[in-house]
Amino acid sequence: MTTAPTSTSATGSASPAAPAAGIVPLLIGAGLPPFEAITPEQVRAHIPGLLAELEQDLTALERRLEADLAGGGLLSWQAVLDPLQRLEERLRWSWGVVSHLTGVCNSPELREAHAGQQAAVVAFGNRVGQSRVLYRALETLDHQHQSAAPGDAGLLDGAQQRILAAELRAMQLRGVGLEGEAQAAFNAASQELAELSTRFGNQVLDATNGWTLSLTSVEEIEGLPASLLEQLAQAARGAGLTAADGGEATAEAGPWLLGLDMPRYIPFLKYSRRRDLRERLYRAHVGRASGQGEGASAELNNWPLIERILSLRGDQARRLGYANWAEVSLAAKMADSEAAVEALLEELRAAALPVAERELEQLRACAARHGAPEAADLQPWDVSFWAEVLRQESFELDSEALRPYFPLPQVLEGLFALCGRLFDIQIRAADGEAPVWHPDVRFFRVLEGPGAGERAGQPIAAFYLDPYSRPGSKRGGAWMDECLGRSRAADGTPVLPVAYLICNQSPPVGDTPSLMTFEEVETLFHEFGHGLQHMLTTVERPQAAGINNVEWDAVELPSQFLENWCYDRATLLGMARHWQSGEPLPEAEFAKLLAARTFLGGAATLRQVHFALVDLRLHSQWHPGCGQSPEQLRREIAATTTVLAPIDEDAFLCSFGHIFAGGYAAGYYSYKWAEVLSADAFSAFEEVGLENEPRIRETGRRFRDTVLSLGGSLDPKAVFEAFRGRQPTSEALIRHSGLVAV
Ligand SMILES: [Zn+2]
Repeated sequence: MTTAPTSTSATGSASPAAPAAGIVPLLIGAGLPPFEAITPEQVRAHIPGLLAELEQDLTALERRLEADLAGGGLLSWQAVLDPLQRLEERLRWSWGVVSHLTGVCNSPELREAHAGQQAAVVAFGNRVGQSRVLYRALETLDHQHQSAAPGDAGLLDGAQQRILAAELRAMQLRGVGLEGEAQAAFNAASQELAELSTRFGNQVLDATNGWTLSLTSVEEIEGLPASLLEQLAQAARGAGLTAADGGEATAEAGPWLLGLDMPRYIPFLKYSRRRDLRERLYRAHVGRASGQGEGASAELNNWPLIERILSLRGDQARRLGYANWAEVSLAAKMADSEAAVEALLEELRAAALPVAERELEQLRACAARHGAPEAADLQPWDVSFWAEVLRQESFELDSEALRPYFPLPQVLEGLFALCGRLFDIQIRAADGEAPVWHPDVRFFRVLEGPGAGERAGQPIAAFYLDPYSRPGSKRGGAWMDECLGRSRAADGTPVLPVAYLICNQSPPVGDTPSLMTFEEVETLFHEFGHGLQHMLTTVERPQAAGINNVEWDAVELPSQFLENWCYDRATLLGMARHWQSGEPLPEAEFAKLLAARTFLGGAATLRQVHFALVDLRLHSQWHPGCGQSPEQLRREIAATTTVLAPIDEDAFLCSFGHIFAGGYAAGYYSYKWAEVLSADAFSAFEEVGLENEPRIRETGRRFRDTVLSLGGSLDPKAVFEAFRGRQPTSEALIRHSGLVAV
């Protein structure tokens, strides 16, 4: 091949893209990336040049716009948003490949090259986001539209209006509309907030790592499973601890080093029969970074940071013309107002509280049956332990034992068959037809299904699936990311969307395929749901195609929606067969999976409601002169959102990284908000009857034509209503979570 692929048609060419001589693979800027030809050296050598070029292009665009604005004539979309999008797409393509490779084939060289350029890439993003000329041009487009009569040139379609509104809002929230001293104060506060979040996160990390407890006798490890003992011994070896005889720490003989990180904390509380040790561990954990507690460093104290962060956010909100930070957060979300979020959380709270109280009684009764003294005085450090005992007694669900029923090829077959039924698409393996970054990576094409008439078999999209874990070079977890977005190339040819689907399950061993746990099956369905929204979009404006421009509290709708099908009898039993004997999953195991889904569902819901309400009210009601500390506000909320009151040392806020060191401020509620949408969407299928094939297909098509097609081109409330015929309600989520009073 002598010419580089320009605008591709990911599904067009039949052979892997090969870069043409003289073109740097990292800078091709369109089509499927030639992953193996991209090197850390190119990142170091060519990202600075690319940024310099984009910087020049941006400056040239600003000059043109300035002249246009001064001229006073009509400004066009093609003169503002299109060039901006092309500019951003060039960076997204090149930097997107680098970020992708950092996630899936990391190496010290690549990591270093990525880290070396990241600040410059972020700086360029800030430069675009704070361009005053660009902002004025966007405002002008908006004014033209507002004052246009039907048929006028300045009139924008619905997708354009949403794209424009989102761009304007994003720039406003960066302070671009502020002048002089107000802007200087805004920028200084932004800088301070960034530093405070980093410090907050680091102090949580240091406090977590700063507490350990060495266990040396077998009485202290009573109840712990072998895998945890191995971890604790490994931690002891890492800390240089040795056995009494001077030998190396082992899982069998110790010593075992306990710590506050999740992989050691969670299973210890779950399995340890030593109530006193559970208590010590729990107290240390909930007091992290509060400057107090056993062995804690007084310097690692996040309380002052919390007040400072909340005050600064309040100031920033007022500078931007909002009453508080919650309003800033909600300005870009599906939820209209704080009242709407409060109303939803109250519905869930009211449903979950009595159930959580009953669940606590069940745990007490379980402890009493076992003659445990704590039955009369159950404490927070007892909850996980008795929950695990009760769970085993109730279902004996052994997640490892289910693996043979879920070999990856069969799960994929089931998933693809489901998508065929629901959305009338066909998914075909196309391995070898696209460049990949690892031999285990697979490539698939998505085609129109038989229901599409003349268009049946036409390509719609494609995706990569990278299913297995590769410790050392691949990031943990699972995710969907955009390789190419749907758009039209300059010459008018359609660019079809391509997704990355990344999981981390165990690889095949010898003749044994990758055998998945049920959680891994759910994860695959979840990410595939995101992938479907990316791939089945019909929006051709890239800024609103697929998941782009979808409100953050609505973006988990398709992913969680698809997860629901893992619990659908026909779907699950259709794919769960023993990989050797072909035996279907026993009915009793299916029943256990269903029961496990809602086990302690009241407590789980209540916990999320507690976090969400605390987050929301800290960002709407709290201010330095309100007469209450953030902690007092949290305890007030705890009175109606917990069934075991927080103990005195509980300083959970000091480690609430989601809102103080991450991006969830006044947005934690989004978890539940999106679950309401996904459960309610699934209930449309329950209503027509999960056995009613024609109606299921019809409803699935409607889901494809609304939620999956329209992406960010339409208000999410309108998209939901187009599918469901009404606004969402929490009824289905409450039912699916097992919170309906019997
Ligand atoms: Zn997700």
